[in-house]
Amino acid sequence: MTRFDETTAVVTGSGSGIGRKTARTLAEDGSDVVVADIDRENGEEAATTIANETDADATFVEVDVTDDADVERMVETAVSEYGDLDVAVNNAGLGSKLEPTADVSEDDWQRIIDVNLTGVWRCLRVEIDAMLEDGGGAIVNTASILGRVGTEGAPAYTASKHGVVGLTKVAALDYASEDVRVNAVCPGYIETPMLEEAGLYEDEETVDQLRELHPQGRLGEPQEIADAIAWLCSDEASFATGEAMAIDGGYLSR
Ligand code: NAD
Repeated sequence: MTRFDETTAVVTGSGSGIGRKTARTLAEDGSDVVVADIDRENGEEAATTIANETDADATFVEVDVTDDADVERMVETAVSEYGDLDVAVNNAGLGSKLEPTADVSEDDWQRIIDVNLTGVWRCLRVEIDAMLEDGGGAIVNTASILGRVGTEGAPAYTASKHGVVGLTKVAALDYASEDVRVNAVCPGYIETPMLEEAGLYEDEETVDQLRELHPQGRLGEPQEIADAIAWLCSDEASFATGEAMAIDGGYLSR
């Protein structure tokens, strides 16, 4: 027996980074996974690799978390392919360029809030309905250390991640009595393509500054977040709900 035997999971943003490691970790522990991502090439490759290299099954679904019909198709695929939905990881997200609050364009603000915050809510409501039909489940939302504290120059991202933490707590309270647990993880800076896209990986000096923000003196690895997410999704975390767990090399303890 493994932790996720006879389990079905959906993981958004699982074509890359933290989501990809999470989908693989759940599959290595026995869960069939729906790999959901807006990026078809990466998502298909992730699903094929997971199906080939683990004993679990994996199906790719092209999903934009800002689109209701896509999100419904994602959950329908889990139920039709594998019977039900037990685990959901709402992880898809966009980073942001750094600019002061008053300089952010409304388009940039709206896009980040729509993907990072409203996208999580859009997924939650469909996932919760499916879980309630089948006796409950476990959900983890990927927030950030920037869901717990601020930083200069990332107003939309920081607001979106604070929103994810708040949404996680309310959803946890709303469904605690119906066996749906809802938690969040708050990663520190993790070595994924998002850091490069945000321009934070351009030179050694910037990377050193990022490392120094963490008392452990380094950036995190995607696997370190995937392991925490898998724990929160597992029965080992059966009394954990509404938690926003920092996995951050000590960042938030300063
Ligand atoms: P990543 O860029 O490697 O992965 C993000 C994935 O989300 C990509 O595969 C992308 O295609 C997908 N995605 C983007 N928009 C989407 C949409 N509209 N619909 C569906 N999929 C979409 O980045 P990552 O670092 O693995 O980020 C995963 C999550 O972790 C994000 O929510 C991010 O905010 C959060 N996070 C990352 C860090 C970090 O330092 N990397 C720190 C804290 C939190």
